[in-house]
Amino acid sequence: MMSKTAVITGAGRGIGAMIAVRLASDGFNVALNDLNMEALAETAEKCRGFGVEAECFAADVSNHNSCEETVKKIKERFGTIDVLVNNAGITRDGLLARMSEENYDLVIAVNQKSVYNMMKHCCAVMMKQKSGRVINVSSVAGLHGNAGQFNYSASKAAVIGMTKSAAKEFGARGINVNAIAPGFIETPMTDALTDAQKQAILGMVAMKRYGTVDEISGVVSFLAGKDSSYITGQVIEISGGLSM
Ligand code: NAP
Repeated sequence: MMSKTAVITGAGRGIGAMIAVRLASDGFNVALNDLNMEALAETAEKCRGFGVEAECFAADVSNHNSCEETVKKIKERFGTIDVLVNNAGITRDGLLARMSEENYDLVIAVNQKSVYNMMKHCCAVMMKQKSGRVINVSSVAGLHGNAGQFNYSASKAAVIGMTKSAAKEFGARGINVNAIAPGFIETPMTDALTDAQKQAILGMVAMKRYGTVDEISGVVSFLAGKDSSYITGQVIEISGGLSM
C-alpha cells in the first residue's frame, strides 16, 4: 500500500466528503479538514474502510494561523503532504445592489484566502519533497460569472488566477497545480436553490441533468494520480456542457 497523504478541506459533506472517500479508495492516507467535526468523523470512518489512515483536523480555512498550525500537525502525523485539495467553500448569494460588505468579505475569506492559507504551507512541504499535486475547486461561476453571485464569482475567478500563477512558480519543482470548475452538482449547497432557479439552470445544461459528486471526485482522482503528470495550470470544467 502506498503511503502518500492527501489533504482535503471541507471534507465533512458534499463534494469534499466524496473526494476524500475516492482518494482513500485510491490508496491515499487522508488528512480531513472541516469545521463540523461530527460530519468529518463520518467521512473518516468511510475512508478507513479502504484500509488507509484517516485523521480529522478541525480548522477554519479562512484563518491563516489555524491553517499554518493544521498543516504543521498534518506533517507531524503523516510525514508527507502529497496532494492538497482546496475544496471548502460557501455561498452568500444576493444581487450586488443589496450585498452587504460582511457577506462579500466572508465569501472572499473562505473561498479565496483559504487557498492562499493552505497552499502557502502545504506547498512549502511539497517543495522540500520536490513533488506534489494541488487541486483547487473553482466553479463555472468563476469562469463565466453568475447573476446573484458577485462575491462567489469573484472568489472563484481568483482561485483560477492563483492556480495558474502557482503552476508557473512550481512547474519546475515537481508540483502540479490545477483547478476544477464544477457546474451544478447535487449537494447541500445546491439544495438551497429555489425550484425556479433549478429549472433555469437545467435549461442551460446540454446534458439536462445535475452532476453527481462522483463525477467530480473521479476527475480529482485523475488530477491526483500518475496519469495527469504533464498537466498543470489547467481548469477542467465539469458541467455537463454548460458552456462549450
Ligand atoms: P457543501 O455541501 O456546502 O460543503 C462545503 C463543506 O465546506 C462543508 O462541509 C462545510 O462545513 C465546509 N466549510 C465551509 N466553510 C468552511 C471553513 N471556513 N473552514 C473549513 N471548512 C468549511 O458544498 P459543496 O457543494 O460540496 O461544495 C464544495 C466546493 O465545490 C465548494 O468550494 C463549492 O464552491 C464548489 N462548487 C460546488 C458546486 C455545486 O454545484 N455544489 C458547483 C461549483 C463549485 P460546514 O458543514 O461546517 O459548514
